[in-house]
Amino acid sequence: MELLPKSKLPHVETTVFTVMSALADKHQALNLSQGFPDFDPPDELLDRVSFYLNNSYNQYPPMSGVLPLRISISDKLKSVYGIETDPEREITVTAGATEALFCAITSLVRPNDEVVMFDPCYDSYDPVVSLNGGIPKHLEMRSPDFRIDWDEVSDSISDKTRLIILNTPHNPTGTVLSSGDIEALKQIVAGKDIYIISDEVYEHIIFDGVKHESVCRCPELLERSFVVSSFGKTFHATGWKIGYCRAPAELTREFRKIHQFVNFTVSTPFQMALADYLKVNKEFCDQLGSFYQAKRDFFCSLLSKSKFHVRPSQGTYFQLLDYSNISGELDVTVSKDWTRNLGIASIPISVFYKKPPASPQALLRFCFAKDDATLEKAGEILCGI
Ligand code: PMP
Ligand code: GLN
Repeated sequence: MELLPKSKLPHVETTVFTVMSALADKHQALNLSQGFPDFDPPDELLDRVSFYLNNSYNQYPPMSGVLPLRISISDKLKSVYGIETDPEREITVTAGATEALFCAITSLVRPNDEVVMFDPCYDSYDPVVSLNGGIPKHLEMRSPDFRIDWDEVSDSISDKTRLIILNTPHNPTGTVLSSGDIEALKQIVAGKDIYIISDEVYEHIIFDGVKHESVCRCPELLERSFVVSSFGKTFHATGWKIGYCRAPAELTREFRKIHQFVNFTVSTPFQMALADYLKVNKEFCDQLGSFYQAKRDFFCSLLSKSKFHVRPSQGTYFQLLDYSNISGELDVTVSKDWTRNLGIASIPISVFYKKPPASPQALLRFCFAKDDATLEKAGEILCGI
């Protein structure tokens, strides 16, 4: 008898975030690899969680999320993007954006459907497409500006194309889509049976006065889109694993058929607390961009005398650093070496490619969602290289 199942994901290994955080732990290195803040959510939000934990909000909430939170999300979408969203039929609260992405992809993709995604690509999309028998079509965004080549997208669309997955602001490059990008996408999908998943988990972390070009601002895309966000990023609470998906009612119906058997629902006191907090602290989201822009600027200024090339990130809490003046080694080797021997952990970006670019890039991703003392220590180490 053969008890070892044939792997459904033979080419997938443990995610780079787990690998690099474990290596950082082992070597007590400064961990600027996996993306998480080293500071807490706002006190008022923590107080609300504690209130609900201590006042008997400890049983199952509704499958699609507590209504007050779905109403708060709908209000936020109205005030930020000017769109109407039915909290009962178009919003589902999920166990982080990760679960939302899984459910959205699974609800759409059938065997042999093609799914367009852009490398360097967040690592959870491709395996879920493959699990569903779909065919991931990876198109490359080329350094240094990492823009989407829309002619290439247009050429890669076929009758089998079912879905395009976007991510703006973009992890790991920190680039953002422009209104021109959204217009190009709109033209490409017009009249075709192609859906969109728009991963907008960093929607509020965008810099230099640039507007976040959410698909929410484009009615022709919104009617075919699953828009995914994460409270982990917005409220410095990645460990809570709460996010949401906004999609038209017919798409949400299919989405929930999957969600109910993946997670069913998400922890009650956290949902209730977020509902309260969003209602009375609308400005929190508005100030997040300037909060993280100050962190980005501080981190980049610390590196002004280093040997790295730095193109300041346009959004997210990640900064790419080009180390081509320092080493000719591959990024995976360099990130592990520096974690073990210099005490600073980062993420190599080649792991976000289906096929790493022909001429290897010397790029590492550093998370700057850290308090200033951590960033100063990181600056000292990096300037010493
Ligand atoms: N998408 C992107 C682009 C991300 O960077 C992340 C997490 N950093 C996620 C999805 C997953 O978010 P969550 O932790 O809410 O599951
Ligand atoms: N998305 C986070 C990052 O880019 C990590 C998420 C995870 O560890 N699953 O670092």
